[in-house]
Amino acid sequence: MKQWVAKLIEQFEVDRGAKSTRFSGQSDDAELSEDRATLLYIIDVYNKNLFDFEKQPVRKVREILDEFSKALINKNSNFDKLLFRVRQFFSTHRVDEHSYVQNTFNDFKNIIWDFADQLSEDIRFEQIKDAEIQENLIQLREAVEANSIEDLKVKSREFIDYYVEQQTRRDERRSKSLSLIKTNLNHVKEKLAVANERMLVDHLTGAFNRLAFDERISDLIREARPSNQSAILIYFDLDHFKKVNDTFGHDGGDEVLKECVKRVKKLFNRSTDFFARIGGEEFAILLNGSSVEESILRAEELLALVRGSSVVHKSFQIRFTVSMGIAEHSKNESAEDWIKRADSALYQSKASGRDRYTLAPPGHLRVA
Ligand code: GH3
Ligand code: MG
Ligand code: MG
Repeated sequence: MKQWVAKLIEQFEVDRGAKSTRFSGQSDDAELSEDRATLLYIIDVYNKNLFDFEKQPVRKVREILDEFSKALINKNSNFDKLLFRVRQFFSTHRVDEHSYVQNTFNDFKNIIWDFADQLSEDIRFEQIKDAEIQENLIQLREAVEANSIEDLKVKSREFIDYYVEQQTRRDERRSKSLSLIKTNLNHVKEKLAVANERMLVDHLTGAFNRLAFDERISDLIREARPSNQSAILIYFDLDHFKKVNDTFGHDGGDEVLKECVKRVKKLFNRSTDFFARIGGEEFAILLNGSSVEESILRAEELLALVRGSSVVHKSFQIRFTVSMGIAEHSKNESAEDWIKRADSALYQSKASGRDRYTLAPPGHLRVA
């Protein structure tokens, strides 16, 4: 069985219906059919790409998807029934997602339509007024041609009064509609800024999300950095987080995640620091311009801060630790390779006891 399937299964640690023992990782692997494994994979991918909206909060959707995954892993469950339920859920969710996006889009569309309506109304109105001015001009010209001084005096006064009044009204109208457009534009701008921010921020913790991280790491690599300026990636993952969830419930786990983010933000708050939640309980910090030595000091500081404090949830005190992998960017290294090195170093920290960091060897030393 492929490693990713085993990893997914491990996440749920449920009774697989075999010999009434908990899944231990190896011997039962072969029993998970390709169909089940594929569906499990699809659910996992779906899970990682959710976004929050009123009708389907990510939290709620995740619970449902987790239930599906657990049922899939249990070989005694009825696969056809399960498949039917999964299909039903996906289609409802997609419809809700679509109507949320459509409604938001419609809001923007309506504002833009209002602009266009207002503008064409103004233009039409001004065209009518221009025609009136033309009419008055014709009368004035007729008065000139009639050679009557008295008539010309009256007509030219009338024309000037009329013209001045029209210009004043036009100016008033223009400044009114301009200020209306300005207000509407500001409204659109605010809405867009909020939507944009939402897209890059994790709903639970308020930290930047995976999308923001992917953008930032590519920017960092693309930037022409002076050769003596290093960039550091710290990958970290909460230790035994499943146990936290099992012992204190999902809410307790969420509190720990939020607290963890607070602590990281407190320490990594320089303008050259970037911090994101890139997975369930996985995080990444990018340090632009920090040396390896300085980054290690800061990583140790974070380890100590996390280790030394606790979260109080429903009168329980929850303590937790994190494990880290630190990798300095090597010349010409891709984001993918850089991440892989940080991730392997993190894995080393896990394997050698957790609550520690491991420094990754430089990229070019790795055997491809
Ligand atoms: P390790 O020390 O090896 O990292 O052990 P672990 O228990 O932390 O193992 P693993 O990384 O496999 O477990 C991650 C768990 O995090 C599984 C998943 O249910 C949980 N999780 C993921 N996202 C959330 C979330 O948003 N809230 C809560 N409460 N739990 C989450
Ligand atoms: Mg973990
Ligand atoms: Mg993890």
